[in-house]
Amino acid sequence: MVTHPTRLTPPVQCVPLHDPESRLEGVIVIHSTALGPGAGGCRFWSYPDMDRARADALRLAEGMSYKNALAGLPLGGAKAVLRRPEGDFDRARLFHAFGKAVAELRGTYVTAEDVGTSVADMQDVARATRHVAGLPARDGRAGGDPSPWTAQGVFESIREAAAFALERDLGDLTVAVQGVGHVGADLCRRLAEAGARLVVADVDPDRCENLRALHGAKVVDVDAIVGAEADVFAPCALGGVLDARSAQRIAARLVCGAANNQLARPEVAETLRRRGIAYVPDYVANAGGIISVSAEYLGEDAADVGRRVAAIAPRVVALLERAAREGRSPAAVADDLAEEVIAGARRPATAA
Ligand code: NAD
Repeated sequence: MVTHPTRLTPPVQCVPLHDPESRLEGVIVIHSTALGPGAGGCRFWSYPDMDRARADALRLAEGMSYKNALAGLPLGGAKAVLRRPEGDFDRARLFHAFGKAVAELRGTYVTAEDVGTSVADMQDVARATRHVAGLPARDGRAGGDPSPWTAQGVFESIREAAAFALERDLGDLTVAVQGVGHVGADLCRRLAEAGARLVVADVDPDRCENLRALHGAKVVDVDAIVGAEADVFAPCALGGVLDARSAQRIAARLVCGAANNQLARPEVAETLRRRGIAYVPDYVANAGGIISVSAEYLGEDAADVGRRVAAIAPRVVALLERAAREGRSPAAVADDLAEEVIAGARRPATAA
């Protein structure tokens, strides 16, 4: 086990994963356990080397600590990142091997789906450990693919943030969605049903074509989506999309999407604020999925998930209000609030 110091909770645990037989290679990063077991999904993606996989896992795990804290969940932050092997591999075997690694952590890490993984993969993980969620739901209990809950929270956040920051209704807005996978496509459906016009881009052209056929979405090149003429920009692909360059190109006045780690660097939030663009911190808007995962892991009902997801959009508006009042970026305000929650959990209770 390797440890890395970070701003929030040194030391962070990095658990390397290496099993040549199943072709499992990656890392589990447990960033914080102050509020409960470290929880966060398992990403399965093509990384050129382990250094980049580890760097991604560290940032994603930190984001989970902040997300879980602000969503009021009894969970710390963690993430698994697995390198997708080149050529043929036995997927079920690889995820079973990953499950064995999760089991060895004895509940300090709880896994679920993320980019590149599915309910079927989590079922393979579950053959080796009970510390997994995102499994098929039963009898009104929480569970299943968390992405519809993520899409619901992002959709409601866009609707309420647009009413607050742009003073406009969805029926009057164009939304540019970057990445139309599990969350992005579901978000597009909800936006189209509410009357919004869509501009979409994805590296997989078939996914865009579906949305053009179903909802009349305008399809643009992946390089054009950031600067597309739109009122709202919704990043729903991978992280790092908001950097010094793209922050100057964004045409939209509101940024709110599902992708984790949208800010390539924290100071980009301030650039957006100075340009008059309202940025909804990713981990506040996209908490629906982990709310579902948490409820499933704790044996709660789907109705509990619905109640907590419904609280996301009001939290977003309160954050935008406070940021405007204090003349700060919403990202800076959210980080402070999350750090207070985590620090509070670490302080010993004092007698009344
Ligand atoms: P997904 O893999 O189903 O979809 C991602 C989509 O982005 C894919 O269609 C992919 O082709 C596309 N894409 C990748 N690179 C792109 C690029 N450069 N330009 C345009 N499109 C690109 O993943 P998902 O589950 O929909 O998650 C999307 C994002 O939301 C991720 O950042 C994920 O971490 C985050 N997120 C997801 C959930 C969830 O419940 N699934 C919860 C919280 C956060």
